Amino acid sequence: MGEVPFNRPRLIGTEHRYVDEAIATGKISGNGIFAARCTAWLRARVGAPAAFLTPSCTAALEMAAILADLGPGDEVIVPTFTFVSTANAFAARGATPVFVDADARTLNLDPAAVARAITPRTRAIVVMHYGGVACEMDAIAALAARHRLLVIEDAAHALPAALNGRPLGSIGQLATFSFHETKNIQCGEGGALVVNDPSFVARAEVVQEKGTNRSAMFRGETDRYTWLDLGSSYLLSEVSAAFLWAQMEEADATTAERRRIWSLYHEAFVDLEQAGLVQRPSVPPGCEHSGHLYYLLLADEHERDGLIDALARAGVHATSHYVPLGSSPAGRRYGREPEPAHVAEALSRRLVRLPLWVGMESADVGRVIEGVRDALAARLLHHA
Ligand SMILES: *Cc1c(COP(=O)(O)O)cnc(C)c1O
Repeated sequence: MGEVPFNRPRLIGTEHRYVDEAIATGKISGNGIFAARCTAWLRARVGAPAAFLTPSCTAALEMAAILADLGPGDEVIVPTFTFVSTANAFAARGATPVFVDADARTLNLDPAAVARAITPRTRAIVVMHYGGVACEMDAIAALAARHRLLVIEDAAHALPAALNGRPLGSIGQLATFSFHETKNIQCGEGGALVVNDPSFVARAEVVQEKGTNRSAMFRGETDRYTWLDLGSSYLLSEVSAAFLWAQMEEADATTAERRRIWSLYHEAFVDLEQAGLVQRPSVPPGCEHSGHLYYLLLADEHERDGLIDALARAGVHATSHYVPLGSSPAGRRYGREPEPAHVAEALSRRLVRLPLWVGMESADVGRVIEGVRDALAARLLHHA
């Protein structure tokens, strides 16, 4: 019996054929025929006027920071409980990330804490939909409207996911996705910027092409291209776009399978939650999640580490995250935490992520469930 790995990227089987097709076109730099297919798919899924494939979600967030014209003196509200790129992209432009605490049920940005963190310097709110469960976007949008702030969605976990029928990634003016191999739909390394506010579309095209109007030249709108704006090399190679297209064609099947495994875990741990031994993920009404990840919250760090160790002995690789950004070395150097993030600090010590990937056999899922139940069995008996 081998180990149950934490993640194994799904391969559809059509990737090789599409990559061969891309090579045969003789053009494997960015924005070729496969990028066109992938961005059309994204626009349709999200209902957005424009989408751009990027080398990563990190790069897409950097594009968002350039488009939002954020720099020194500007504050950007970001969750403290998220991956580094959510804040780093804005800090890299000289803006100040202002770290805000999490909601204890969804682990998403707490709108009440966001409201308290807004100052005259605030320019944008960046949300991250943890596990593809939507943030409280009505409350966030109301704050943004009142204070004239931009909303940027880091939707790395949220493809596809929805809030009251609205796709995540369609609500902010800008949204970003990740196609890293750990995400639902993947091409090794990759990402996308989705532009919902049409006023950003023309500049986004320039920012993606190193700050030039090269895309307009390829369309025959100008003979030569020139440097117009800030930008960088934010295109995804056609080799990766071809791989990604294979994944997009199967996105619904991938999501359905991830949600199926998510539900198996969720049902298997009902009694552990009732016994007060764990807290399961909470999915508020109206949220259609992506099945991106499954986690349990233990009572404290000692119990959490004990579970990860017990699972390791049972051949199951479980992990944890995130170190709250506000208390990280770079977070302290480049950002500001207006009030202590007690919820996120506690979550970070209590969280266990379980293996969840397409291709897990029933026996693999069973081993994870039994591993968790065995580790907590003594206390469950005690409780009964
Ligand atoms: C994975 C992830 C990213 C970064 O994605 P890359 O494509 O690896 O740059 C950003 N934000 C969140 C929330 C993520 O989970």
